Amino acid sequence: MQILIVTRHHGLVEFLARYIGSGHEVVAHATADKVKGRDVWGVLPLHLAAECGRFTEVPLDLPQDLRGKELTCEQVERYCSKPVTYEIVRHIHDICSYCGADNGTEDQANRRQGFDCFECGSVRSDVNTLFFS
Ligand SMILES: [Zn+2]
Repeated sequence: MQILIVTRHHGLVEFLARYIGSGHEVVAHATADKVKGRDVWGVLPLHLAAECGRFTEVPLDLPQDLRGKELTCEQVERYCSKPVTYEIVRHIHDICSYCGADNGTEDQANRRQGFDCFECGSVRSDVNTLFFS
């Protein structure tokens, strides 16, 4: 898996070199397309972390006066805990309005439209306006 580092801090990239070496692609802001299927290190919101093949968070507990500022490697070292790798499974809940069963799927791409509820057999649709317009 190709490594990607997501951070605004050069100090964090320097700090991460001891774990994953240097020369990896670094971006300040991540998008779903950018992180998809990759081995991503840094800080990400959960919905983007779920797109990664693997996501490693470097937990930073910064004092107020350092937030939003450029950090040195020494500052990262001082305020971070050990990196933690997560393998995230996304489950999108989709409750049947007739019986209350959860017809959710593990990925947006697999969402079904106009299918029968697996529990009660009601024909369901994500396009509710079809019924109410
Ligand atoms: Zn149902």
